[in-house]
Amino acid sequence: MIPGPVEISPGVRAALDAAPPGHLAPALIEAFGHALSRMREVWMAGPDARPLVVAGGGTLAMELAVANLTEPGDRAVVINTGYFSDRIAEMLRRSGAVVHEVRAPIGEAPAPEAVEHALEASARGGAVKLLAATHVDTSTGVRVDPAPLAALARERGVLSVFDGVCATAGEAFDMDRLAADVYLTASQKAIGLPAGLALLVASARAVEARRRRRAPPPPLYLDWEAWLPVMEGYEARRPGYFSTPPTSMILALAAGLDEIVQRGIAARVADHRRVAQALRAAWQTMGLAPIPRTAQLSANTLSAIRFPDGVDASLLARVLDRGVVLAGGLHPEIRSRYFRVGHMGYVVTRPDLLERTITALGAGLGDVGHPVDTAQALAAADALLGAA
Ligand SMILES: *Cc1c(COP(=O)(O)O)cnc(C)c1O
Repeated sequence: MIPGPVEISPGVRAALDAAPPGHLAPALIEAFGHALSRMREVWMAGPDARPLVVAGGGTLAMELAVANLTEPGDRAVVINTGYFSDRIAEMLRRSGAVVHEVRAPIGEAPAPEAVEHALEASARGGAVKLLAATHVDTSTGVRVDPAPLAALARERGVLSVFDGVCATAGEAFDMDRLAADVYLTASQKAIGLPAGLALLVASARAVEARRRRRAPPPPLYLDWEAWLPVMEGYEARRPGYFSTPPTSMILALAAGLDEIVQRGIAARVADHRRVAQALRAAWQTMGLAPIPRTAQLSANTLSAIRFPDGVDASLLARVLDRGVVLAGGLHPEIRSRYFRVGHMGYVVTRPDLLERTITALGAGLGDVGHPVDTAQALAAADALLGAA
């Protein structure tokens, strides 16, 4: 129950059981092409957007966006909601961008007006190239609303990049309607696969910005121009080669995205929302306080919860004694004062695993001298889980 790598479905596991295909095997060509088209559906991207699948993780997906879209001296605005926003700001600086960060107190997100002011302030030094935001920051459990951010960027001709690593397929994001330019994720989070894939969809505007680049090209492995012809080929069921794709993971990706599309992306997001509400109700009856300040700011995909007074991270070992793995803190300023529970991907279809998590946490709290009414917490969650 950590915020990635997550539990995987039996269907995804079965796909991984196949003997590893070659990159020119008919089954791989079909799965790769199918997965790329399915990404368009899950991302809700238009026909001229371009999906990319590269072996790696979320950090690579972030780097793929930053390295292609920033040239030295470009101006960038980062909506900073925690650890992973710090990371993309650092990447932008390393690519030579002049970075303007908009922050909010831990547990909150900057207001759109503050973002507008930052865009205006940054623009006084020259045209702003890029706006970056973390859809769900995994270090705080805070979700930003992408709609006003994407709109502010579009109005000003600024490219918008959203880190969806802890969000994609668990939070609503209609890439086409938002007119967002990059929405990126990794396989081991809300998409519901093992770790190993960087997944990204770029708008036609973003692809064009890379084409018109005047600075030297990005490192070859990061260069969209190297990858996009291969992706276009596979989507048309024509295999190509730039660097060997992780073929077993691509079989798993095709199976996992099929499960999401078969459920329906809106229903899948609603499943995550309902589970998050149910678990928050459980935490609340246990007297536990979340890091995000409001329900609106609280992610569907994970809970970030303060330790009660007198309780520390030894709680997690007591929960582990019951067979449930939770995660410690990540945000450097509050790391030892809170813990995290991931609830994304396959587990949202398994009320038994969610109930077991509540039971294990209740027992663990009792062990560390903070007894709670676990039965009441389960009842609070079940009342919402039963509403499926
Ligand atoms: C996990 C995560 C990342 C980093 O992904 P890795 O696969 O660990 O490199 C980036 N952004 C967010 C929001 C994440 O949750």
